[in-house]
Amino acid sequence: MASPKRNASKSPAAKPPREHTAEEIDNGVDHDKSKVECLCPKCGKKHVMNFHWIGRGTPRKYCQSCRDSI
Ligand SMILES: [Zn+2]
Repeated sequence: MASPKRNASKSPAAKPPREHTAEEIDNGVDHDKSKVECLCPKCGKKHVMNFHWIGRGTPRKYCQSCRDSI
């Protein structure tokens, strides 16, 4: 029989919060950001980035491959 304790162990308290806090904020938690379509000024490719953009039009952002080659 499934024990209710299984659900309880899913709580975030099971994680050691100290070690991962900075990394998780950097990686995944982007409540402030949204997916924005950008145009790469180097290769002219359209790509999608996650960041906070309040402007209009298409922001000029280097795509992943051009960023790597900088
Ligand atoms: Zn590019």
